[in-house]
Amino acid sequence: MKRLNALIPLALLLMLHSCGGCGDDSTPPPPPPPPGSSDVLSISNAQSGEEIGLLVDGSFGSTTVNDSTYVSLDTDIELGEITGSGEAIIFNNRRAPVIRQNINWKSGRAVIAETMGNEILIPVTVWILHAPYTTNRANAIDWSLTTSMIWENERMGVAFEEYEIIDATNNPAAANYLNFTCSMRTNLKNDIGNKPNRINIYVVETVDGGVSRGQACAIGSDFVAMASQAGSELLSHEIGHNFGLLHTDTRSDFNRTNVMHSASNTRQYFTEGQVFRSHFNPSSALNDTYNARSGKPIRNCGHVQSDSQCPDIGKRIWEDGTFRPN
Ligand SMILES: [Zn+2]
Repeated sequence: MKRLNALIPLALLLMLHSCGGCGDDSTPPPPPPPPGSSDVLSISNAQSGEEIGLLVDGSFGSTTVNDSTYVSLDTDIELGEITGSGEAIIFNNRRAPVIRQNINWKSGRAVIAETMGNEILIPVTVWILHAPYTTNRANAIDWSLTTSMIWENERMGVAFEEYEIIDATNNPAAANYLNFTCSMRTNLKNDIGNKPNRINIYVVETVDGGVSRGQACAIGSDFVAMASQAGSELLSHEIGHNFGLLHTDTRSDFNRTNVMHSASNTRQYFTEGQVFRSHFNPSSALNDTYNARSGKPIRNCGHVQSDSQCPDIGKRIWEDGTFRPN
């Protein structure tokens, strides 16, 4: 029995190591490499005990593959034999995703070393216009905790550095903005306050006439208005717009469990296509508000763009509820 127990974890590890191309229905699995010719991606600073996910481009035998999917607990990831030119996008918990560009996959075994980005820490200021302050302050904290949990679970690689909450209920101008629409945005910022180089969140009574709605008012903005009775997951949706993400309602490979569905109270998932765009799109607040990725690669990927430069918005390395890795 002792020997059997020792063999089971070894078999599991071997399965994880040899996951080249797994779950990718669009391309045939690559043939097993001859011994000693498998390429290796070696990650120097992955979080201990957290899976690494890869999207790899290159030629597997005679087939050129875009975004072949890998998952590994080992920081030295066996990829199989890859040739030609390509790249690798790397995801890990509490790390900013990175892209290793312009790889020349040589024939024979090559070991490519890569370092992940540190988790990006973003400061946020919350202005509470709608009384009672203590109740709505508690709501705002609840929204931030839910957003943090979703980011953590979905490997967004972003966390709040400082979640500052300001009592603006006694500001005489607050009453003018309690029933918020986006036409009030500029005046609201001027009259109530606005801190530069961070996302500013304003808690009001209604947004677009709804007591539980929110508005970012633009894609890639640094502004959020939240009605005080909003569900705890709505803030992650509005900050998703700040990160440049659009609604996913019309796609059959998304449902209300995705954070970017426009009308839901069960938002919890981001695809890897969405996490990628949040970091690499130039209009994301991570780039144009926080300048958190200075000098790092940028990819201006459209919402429906799917090519060698941009993973599909519906690309998944890990399952999102009923939606399988693809
Ligand atoms: Zn929205």
